[in-house]
Amino acid sequence: MSDLLPFNSSMICGLFTPLPPEQATDDTPGFWVVLQGSSLLLLAGPQQSDLPEGALPAVVIPQNEPLRIGLWKGKPLRVVRIAPDVNLPEEYEALPFQGPDTRLDNALATIAGRASQILHWERRSRFCSHCGSGLTRIKASWGKHCPSCGDDHFPHIHPCIIVLVRRGTELLLIRNAAWNPGRFSLVAGFLDFGESLEECVQREVREEAGIEVANIRYVGSQCWPFPSQQMIGFLADYAGGEVKPDGVEVVEADWFGADALPALPGSKRSISRWIMDAYGTNITAAHSVIKP
Ligand SMILES: [Zn+2]
Repeated sequence: MSDLLPFNSSMICGLFTPLPPEQATDDTPGFWVVLQGSSLLLLAGPQQSDLPEGALPAVVIPQNEPLRIGLWKGKPLRVVRIAPDVNLPEEYEALPFQGPDTRLDNALATIAGRASQILHWERRSRFCSHCGSGLTRIKASWGKHCPSCGDDHFPHIHPCIIVLVRRGTELLLIRNAAWNPGRFSLVAGFLDFGESLEECVQREVREEAGIEVANIRYVGSQCWPFPSQQMIGFLADYAGGEVKPDGVEVVEADWFGADALPALPGSKRSISRWIMDAYGTNITAAHSVIKP
């Protein structure tokens, strides 16, 4: 089930209760998500700790007003971001919630991702994109209202398809121009105007690899809070054409047998890896993972 992928709500079911936003101006004690870049602040130690609770150390100077996003284990959970160059007190460490480093457990990575996505929206929704006036919060919602022109604005979550194309026992993998040589992944891309998700799959595979696909079926989805995507996963079957990368966005594309896979995405938390593991053939045993 893709529900249980990191960054989806099911991963923190029973730990986190989302609540409407509210500036945390009272002193009710609770837990903290402290973000530093793409890392989460935790108490250092041989065993991974829970989120910090109680008062924050004085050296942690938030860049934003603490924002309550819900309850963690029944207590208020507030989110702050600190500057990337803050030297942390000895008793704290910052562990990445994005990328191939998976020392942070999936539940903590998930709440860090949620917090990061919310703060991204808060930063991007201070002013009206229509008239430039300051926005106010719509009660009991993450939406914002413009008192000048009356526009309402709601969180921007960008739909993005990702697809495993199969030809018999072979898988279609591509290398994006921005990736290191030897690193491959699945075809993916953002939904465009006027498209169904299936049409987006067909277009992206055609554009990135030059081939046609059929029998497109949905397999699962994942919140991808970097900064705010919704990844929608599909399988598809090869239906015709010769593989030909576009040479701009995609510089390599080819069919790979499960016993001869190239380096796959470094993040084991991604739906890309989940689809390949779930719908490829003996992939886990066959691949290597490259470091960033
Ligand atoms: Zn406005």
